[in-house]
Parts: sequence; structure tokens; C-alpha cells
Amino acid sequence: MLDRPAAVDTYEHSAAQDVFVHTRDRTCRFPGCGQRVGWADADHVIPHAHGGPTDCANLCCLCRSHHRLQTSAPDWRFEMSADGVLTVTTPSGTTRTTRPPGVRPPPPPESLPSLDGGPPSDRAEDAPPY
Ligand SMILES: [Zn+2]
Repeated sequence: MLDRPAAVDTYEHSAAQDVFVHTRDRTCRFPGCGQRVGWADADHVIPHAHGGPTDCANLCCLCRSHHRLQTSAPDWRFEMSADGVLTVTTPSGTTRTTRPPGVRPPPPPESLPSLDGGPPSDRAEDAPPY
């Protein structure tokens, strides 16, 4: 299980949250969309102005179109659980759920080994001894 970065008090999410949410979601989380998203598209599921926390349990990746839908179409309901399962309810009451791909994120940058030696498979100490 991923370590979720701490919530922050500001509207802007932290860099750690940005990495976490993009690693968790990878694409637009709107059901059936799957469009790749840029690094600026981690959005509040419950708007910050409406009391939604800046927490990974309230942030998800949406493409521009679905971000616009999410923020400007009040008849659509977006809800997300702590483990990133997003439930979207349409104006007619149809519910769709999407789950994050569940891929482990890379370790945080500060704990990565130096890349100066090239890919690990090219390094002498990784070669079989015989
Ligand atoms: Zn989308």
C-alpha cells in the first residue's frame, strides 16, 4: 500500500501529493475516459471552497473536459473514498465507479540511487558472479 502524503491546509496541493495522485491515477479518472493528464490536473473532488480538504483522498486526476464538468455541472456528483475509488453520479442518478490502476509508485526522489551509473542491469555488481 502506498504511503499517502499528509493533507495540507492550502488550496494548492503539495509536490508530494502531486506525485502520489498522478502515480495512483495516471490518467483521467472519469469513467470511460482514460485520457493522459498533465502534471497540473490533480483536482479537488469536493471543491476546496466547499470545505473539501487538500488531501489525496480528495484529489484525483481529471482531463480538462472532465475537470470542467466536475467544477461547473452541479448535477453531477463526484465522491472519492480514502483508497482512491471514484464514484460519479450522473444527473439521472446513474452511478459509475473507477478504481486507480493500483501500480506502486516509484520511491520518492530523495531515496533513489544515483543514476550516474546507468540502468542497474548495466552495472558490474548486478551481473551474475559466474
Ligand atoms: Zn476525462
